Amino acid sequence: MSLNENWKNRSLAHVWHPCTQMKDHQWLPLVPVKSAEGVWLEDFEGKRYLDAVSSWWTNIFGHRHPHIVARLKEQLDQLDHVMLGGFTHEPVVTLSEKLCALAPKGLTRCFYADNGSSAVEVALKMAHHYWRNLGKPQKTRYISLSNGYHGETLGALAVSGTGLYRDSYTPLLMQPIQVLSPDCFDRSPGEAWEDHTRRRFRHMEEALERHAGEVAAVIVEPLVQCAGGMRMYHPIYLRLLREACTRHGVLLIADEIAVGFGRTGRMFASDWAGITPDLMCISKGLTSGTLPLAAVMSTDEIYQAFYDDYASYKAFLHSHSFTGNPLACTAALATLELFERSDVLAANRRSAAMMWAAMTELSSHRHVIDIRQQGMILAVELAKNPRKREEYPAAERRGLRVYQYGLEKGVLLRPLGNVVYLMPPYVITPEEIVTMCQTAIEGIDIATSEP
Ligand SMILES: *Cc1c(COP(=O)(O)O)cnc(C)c1O
Repeated sequence: MSLNENWKNRSLAHVWHPCTQMKDHQWLPLVPVKSAEGVWLEDFEGKRYLDAVSSWWTNIFGHRHPHIVARLKEQLDQLDHVMLGGFTHEPVVTLSEKLCALAPKGLTRCFYADNGSSAVEVALKMAHHYWRNLGKPQKTRYISLSNGYHGETLGALAVSGTGLYRDSYTPLLMQPIQVLSPDCFDRSPGEAWEDHTRRRFRHMEEALERHAGEVAAVIVEPLVQCAGGMRMYHPIYLRLLREACTRHGVLLIADEIAVGFGRTGRMFASDWAGITPDLMCISKGLTSGTLPLAAVMSTDEIYQAFYDDYASYKAFLHSHSFTGNPLACTAALATLELFERSDVLAANRRSAAMMWAAMTELSSHRHVIDIRQQGMILAVELAKNPRKREEYPAAERRGLRVYQYGLEKGVLLRPLGNVVYLMPPYVITPEEIVTMCQTAIEGIDIATSEP
């Protein structure tokens, strides 16, 4: 048995893989990865795969970046882990200082968790508890967007609008007030993004007018609904939303887990609108994909609503064993140091332009209905008949064919349904961009030429 086969079989014997119908692996090979460097993953027989999806959008500076590796090794010789209740340490203090300096102005406190979904749980609980501490315990509901995604723990899943992940668990979930997404894929022919986005905001305004008294917070993914198929909208929505939340006395939670840390072309997607959310969730790129870590950043106003004598019982009671893990915080610090060392966003603008130039030839493809881009996210949406806006049936799994073609050619593309997207690590070179884009285009051709 080959080395790859050996690891595949052993994995299938005991590992239950995430987000997977395990039976698919009877015919769809698992990819065992031995090592990684930069944008490349390598299997046990020396075959390499270009990680065009940044390992689920986490890896921004490439695998095993020498600076992050060196900082982690040093930290491991210093302090592995200590609980954050009653104790503190250098990495968590320095990281919190840096995050507050970098985040939209007014976010001055960092509460830590170890993954994105947990951060969303923290933000939801904090929002309700804030109002409770202010004498408004009836604010127990949330407003979320259709097609949104905030993670898969029960609270986060409840405020997600993507049926695929949610439907099986509906009886277990709290019921948010769901508002139609500003998604510009739905705009009328010829309509400007901004006009469409403004028009869609009316639904949000109505929901706030009707429900503000019982709503603790609105939660949105700023600018790009990533898991929902990289659907995008105009930043005007965030400006209107910020103003309306303040006016209606509802908190605004920005879920920047996927779009934070430069992915959309600004440090945070909220920066495109120049707004400060009341709570901001970050994870994924925070450690450049090396270790799990998440944070919820809050304004001082929220922090102060919890700050009182013990007997007031206003404290925020939430903890995870690994809250503020020093190794993960060090990986995050090293990541921020890489942002300080060079103008990452300017370099990304050049890479993003190359990606666009390479992919626009698809705009005349007979099965491409839309190509859209926001910074280092480029998405190509496939359709059976673009003119009639007729979708490919999900069961045809066209995206999966692109995935299979990519693996054959050594590029990890992992489409979301019929949406093929490129979301590579920022360190990708011009030559690697060409390889990635060519493979994606060929994969799309093959996936759409079959009956
Ligand atoms: C990935 C993601 C999450 C969930 O983060 P996990 O670490 O996978 O739990 C939440 N919100 C958004 C916008 C995400 O993309």
